[in-house]
This record gives sequence, C-alpha cells and structure tokens, in this order.
Amino acid sequence: LNEEKLSTFQNYESAVRSYCRSWPTVFGRAKGYKLYDEDGREFIDFFAGAGALNYGHNHPKMQEEMVNYIKNDGIIHSLDMGTEKKRNFLERFQQIILKPRNLSYKIMFPGPTGTNAVESALKIARKVTGRKTVIHFTNAFHGMTIGSLSVTGNSMKRQGAGVPLHYTVTMPYDNYFPGANTAEYLEQFLEDRGSGVDLPAAVILETVQGEGGLQAARDEWLRKIADICKRWDMLLIIDDVQAGCGRTGTFFSFEQAKIEPDIVCLSKSISGSGLPMALTLIKPEHDRWQPGEHNGTFRGNNLAFITAAVALEYWKTEQFSMEIREKAALVTKRIADILDKYPQLQGEARGRGLMQGIAIPEEGLAQKISKQAFRCGLILETSGPKDEVLKFLPPLIIDNEGLHEGLDIVEQCMKFVLS
Ligand code: PMP
Repeated sequence: LNEEKLSTFQNYESAVRSYCRSWPTVFGRAKGYKLYDEDGREFIDFFAGAGALNYGHNHPKMQEEMVNYIKNDGIIHSLDMGTEKKRNFLERFQQIILKPRNLSYKIMFPGPTGTNAVESALKIARKVTGRKTVIHFTNAFHGMTIGSLSVTGNSMKRQGAGVPLHYTVTMPYDNYFPGANTAEYLEQFLEDRGSGVDLPAAVILETVQGEGGLQAARDEWLRKIADICKRWDMLLIIDDVQAGCGRTGTFFSFEQAKIEPDIVCLSKSISGSGLPMALTLIKPEHDRWQPGEHNGTFRGNNLAFITAAVALEYWKTEQFSMEIREKAALVTKRIADILDKYPQLQGEARGRGLMQGIAIPEEGLAQKISKQAFRCGLILETSGPKDEVLKFLPPLIIDNEGLHEGLDIVEQCMKFVLS
C-alpha cells in the first residue's frame, strides 16, 4: 500500500468530506473492465460504479459519438426541450426494449439519479391511488433522499436523517425468515384491520437486493406479491436501478418472473457510460402528472441520451443475454467451488446473474478480504447490513478470463486472511 497516497487522501478528506470508499489510491483512467491508478497500477473492476458501468469504462463507440457530437456543437443540456438525441433514445427504447417485450409504459425523466426515479414513483403512486402508505422490505435500498430513504429497510441509514417521516411499513423480504412464505404475511396484515397497516398506495421492491446483501427473491414470491398488489389495488413499483439493464441476465430483472410492474425505476447503467440519467416507466393509465408536478433542471443530458442509445444496441438480439447468463453460470460454479474448498468460512452463495457474491458470517471477514483484494489488484465491494457479503459486480462485458482472474484473487485473499 502506498502510505503516502493514503495520507494525501486523508488530508483531502479532512478538508472536504468527499465520499471515498476504502480504496486508498487515486485513479487516473479506465478501460473496459479495468481501472488504472495514477501510478499505473492495474485493477480488475468487480464494482462497476456500483452497477453504473454494465457496458464497461470508456466504450469506444460511446466515446466516438460523444466526441463527434461535442465537436459539432451538439446541445449538451436541454432540460425538457425536444432534441434529436432525446428523440433517438426514446424511439430506440420503445423499439428495442418495450415493444419486443409487449410492454406499454410512459417514459419519464425524473432527474439524474436513481433516488429521483424512486421519489417520482412514490409520488405518482400516492397521487393515483389517493393513499399514503408504501410497503417496503427488510434490507431494501432505494436511495438517500427523504422519500426513498423512508422506504429503505436499513434503520442505521435512516436514523441520522430522522426518517421515515410517515406512512411506510417494513415487511419481511423473501427468505428473511427461512422456509416461510413472507408474501403471505403481507396479505394477512392487509386483511387484519387490527394490524395497523393502512391500505397502501404501493409496494416497492428490488428483485435482487443490491446494497442489502444480494438476497434474490424467488420468482414465485415475486408473482405472489404482484398478485396481492392487483387484488388490493396497490401499485407495484420495481426498483430496477441496480438489478436492471441486464445485470441479472435479462434487460429488466422482473422479466424472469413474468410479472408486469405498474412502475419501474431505472438509473445507474441506463446511460451506459456512467453519465447520470434515470427513467421512471409508468403504465399509461397511471400517468396522471400535471405540468410542473415533477420537474427539475438536470433531466435533459444529451450526452447521456447518446451513450444510452448506443447501449441499447446490445439488446437488439438475444446474444448479450445469453452471454451474461453463461458468465453468471461460471461465477455460480466458482462460488460453489470456493464454498466447498473453504468450509471454515461457513459462507453462503447469494444473488443472481452477474450480481452474485458470498455471505460470510464472521464479523469483519468479508471486509478484510475486500481490503486484501485491493492490494492484489481487484476492486471488490462488500454489501449487506453488516458488510458481510462479498459482492461480485463486474461490467457485463467482462470476458471469462477477467472473471477467472478476479475470482482467483478472491480465493487467494480468502486463503491469506484465513491463514
Ligand atoms: N435503488 C437501488 C436499488 C440502488 O441500488 C440505488 C443506488 N445504490 C438507488 C436506488 C439510488 O440510486 P442513486 O444513488 O443513483 O440515487
């Protein structure tokens, strides 16, 4: 470790409280699934900007189109004006993503980030139903603004901000009580007027909990929740900010369960390039916004529309989905081998697609492994309420060699911390 670098960083942090993860270096450039620090050290990226870089760093076609656009005096910021690049993105999204899946949604630009998509979803659900309560789940993560934080199932994150303000109810996510069907609890709470649960406007959930420890809900659980929402006239909001854009093997994570949410939140990898962009997809019958009811300055980033349109090219055929699923199978197999080889870890495989990982019950061990991985050239994050889950989140374009190389480092580091 470069101690000098570490101390410069700490000095910097004392001046400005920036958001720095515990990777003590200064990164200079990145390409594909690799990052390089300013001393030229190479790192495999198993973090992918927390899921914002599904197509890798500095995608050549995205780079080329952005440079051409800037050189030709393209409009960078356009708020909610009509621009060629916005129209192109919208047409492609309709043609490549929605139409082949027989999905009908109004597409809204709620603001630049995932939390903006969630806020807009909560607002419209309350407006449409005229109800206030929103059901959310244990260990969920939906963002850091007051509304999205209020439906985040992590009391530590909520405490400092004094949320929830009002009207949110936490229910157990799938597998929270192993062996139980927790969807049935929700139904019981709704039926029992003594439960104190007001008839909710909506249920919000992630199909795989990205920050909450990579718990993946089973398809039948998701279908049961979707069915309950229909019968109780509650809107189903799927937060696909992290699990969407191909992360679990299909463009939308919920496709695999064959459910059709009323509202879908997308962000992170929707721009394809790491540029800020978010979408809220709303079933046409729920599109009740009046002008001015949800606006904001940064909803018209044309560079993001350009790279987002390039990213959609990946979804024109089934090929990309198949590749992701093959790579996911490789990761599943490697995780199983690691768990076999190191039974003393008492680890548990988590996740789905290219958002898998290993939960390690011994406190602090996952973080030790992640720190050691950095020293060996791998950017690896931990997730879960106690940071107990090693999270493998590489760009989806990573090749098998990169996956093996990264997972080899994980294994070496495990061996090292266990020795
Ligand atoms: N929802 C989910 C599922 C997320 O993982 C995140 C970010 N980790 C958010 C919402 C919030 O997105 P942002 O950080 O862009 O506001």
